[in-house]
Amino acid sequence: MQEKGNLSIHSENILPIIKKWLYSDADIFVREMISNAADAITKLKKLVDLGEAPHVSKEERYAIYVSVDKDLKIIQFEDNGVGMTAEEIKEYITRIAFSGANDFLSKYQDKMDASSEIIGHFGLGFYSVFMVADKAQIDSLSYAEGAEAARWVCEGGVEYELSDSDRAERGTLITLYIGEDGKEFLDEYKLRSVLTKYCSFIPVDIFFKDTPKKEAPQKSEKDETDEKDGGIIDMDEKSEDEPKPINDTHPLWLKPAGDCTDEEYKKFYHKVFTDFNDPLFWIHLNMDYPFRLKGILFFPKLKHELEYIEGQVKLYNNQVFIADNIKEVIPEFLLLLKGVIDCPDLPLNVSRSFLQNDGAVNKMSGYISKKVADKLNSLSKKDRDNYNAYWDDISPFIKYGAIKERDFYDKVKESILYKTTAGDYVTLAEFTSRNAEKTDKTIFYVTNEQLQAQYIKMFKDQGMEAMILTTNLDNPFVSYVETYESGLTFNRIDSDISNSLKETTEEQKEAQEALEALFRKALDNEKLQVRTENLKSDSVSAIMLLSEQSRRMKEMSKMFGGGMDMPGMYEDEEILALNTANPLVKTLLALKDQEDRAADVELICWHLYDLAMLSHKPLGTDQMTRFIERSNKILERIAG
Ligand code: ADP
Ligand code: MG
Repeated sequence: MQEKGNLSIHSENILPIIKKWLYSDADIFVREMISNAADAITKLKKLVDLGEAPHVSKEERYAIYVSVDKDLKIIQFEDNGVGMTAEEIKEYITRIAFSGANDFLSKYQDKMDASSEIIGHFGLGFYSVFMVADKAQIDSLSYAEGAEAARWVCEGGVEYELSDSDRAERGTLITLYIGEDGKEFLDEYKLRSVLTKYCSFIPVDIFFKDTPKKEAPQKSEKDETDEKDGGIIDMDEKSEDEPKPINDTHPLWLKPAGDCTDEEYKKFYHKVFTDFNDPLFWIHLNMDYPFRLKGILFFPKLKHELEYIEGQVKLYNNQVFIADNIKEVIPEFLLLLKGVIDCPDLPLNVSRSFLQNDGAVNKMSGYISKKVADKLNSLSKKDRDNYNAYWDDISPFIKYGAIKERDFYDKVKESILYKTTAGDYVTLAEFTSRNAEKTDKTIFYVTNEQLQAQYIKMFKDQGMEAMILTTNLDNPFVSYVETYESGLTFNRIDSDISNSLKETTEEQKEAQEALEALFRKALDNEKLQVRTENLKSDSVSAIMLLSEQSRRMKEMSKMFGGGMDMPGMYEDEEILALNTANPLVKTLLALKDQEDRAADVELICWHLYDLAMLSHKPLGTDQMTRFIERSNKILERIAG
């Protein structure tokens, strides 16, 4: 038999179009070849089950083989699946945009179940080989009784050659003659890593060989035993002389959650994400309606501050990897997690614009965030002690999610915790109710426990508490909560003095004016704002107050304005509050008019100012130098 023909396509330019539009990455040809091979095996298994392939043994061991020869510049894919007759090759391979999978599906639709899923969807997958190959050859022998082997050769144009083949085993051998564009894949290590990336969970065993074989290798062949395993998946303890498949055909996400042990989840996590730490907890997703979706989302233990969190959510289609972090399917804030999601209903060639406009895809994203919310709520209700212990690690995900999605915030707000200066973790409702008497609707918070230690002590002395909110996200987060929780205001602990800290709230006009004049003169700063307070705690001399709003704006502009800090813009917002109950402040008032003590008064003013500043932000270089000089001087005087 010898036949020449033309690919029946409408445009001569189909290949450049495939290259540019359909596939963004050249390495996808590996995924396409393997998924076709897996489909061919799935189809044959089905036919065997249905009794339509009586001469194929029920004990048949199905497998896919991949091999590469750098010198010959060929890569081969071989399977022992259904195979194709010459007619079928013509039909399925050459009639582009006519999917053999569709044909098979429509024939066996009602007999198919979800477990015998056909991966191919598009009918163009095969042509992805021309992104890397100058020439492709198919040698195939159909499972059908009496079928003759056929060979198809195509050099990437619109012409092909169909002839007899000497192939003796059922199944298909694809030989790719790799061209300039694909030569990186001739490297064994590279090819293995692509296989690992896309095919780690393909439902059929895949064996990698570094020399091409005409025949399928025997299971006991010696040369395969020395093979190093380059993938993340290594099959557990197989006997010594048996080759190891590079993939895991039964990924954990397919197993019912009730049958999975904690150890299995952890092991899966370690392997797939090459993270040696255990995840905190996980969510096993499983749904059938209105779309099918299975997967596992892991909450990782944080190692660093928020900026370094790098999640990874891998998207699969019937166990074939599609891509990482597709934000159209997975809510953006969950991309900070690690996980695997398998959606059989997505097309293999995921094009972003397709996904954006797809209603089902949007629903998937909503479903996933709802599941996450449910899990968090059940943990916080049923397992509060553990949940408290997780909180520091999971709070960035949840706060980020809350800011990103109002819906998510509404669902989880009862499970959002706030660490407090009393040393525990409470919900917003718990916090406000237990502090209602002292601070009413104002919530005080600490951003730096060291710097703000003095304020915290004042609070504690009066039996009051503040929240501890230390991450960068907390600034936008509290603004967010203020918008949705009416009447609540968040004030950093140094932004104002709570009435509960004051002995009286009466103005002390005289002292206030005198002290302001004194400090302005001593510090040579006419704009300095001074306020007096009669605090319950007399050990505090002075504190610096910084307006909440201007501080937040300043921080926001730093965070979002490219780090630019506009000098002079918010400078007047600092107020020096002096405690008239404090002995030193009292003395200062008494000394202020004594000419012979003018130098001491000036020194005390400067020092009080610096001390107040210290618990508010670190001193600048000059300021610090003067502060130390002055401290020494004071010590000398005491000693002398
Ligand atoms: P799709 O997989 O989306 O159908 P492809 O271009 O990848 O599109 O493949 C076209 C068709 O060619 C397949 O549907 C299948 O019928 C046939 N085919 C491809 N590879 C093989 C194979 N290894 N064994 C048997 N049939 C194959
Ligand atoms: Mg395909």
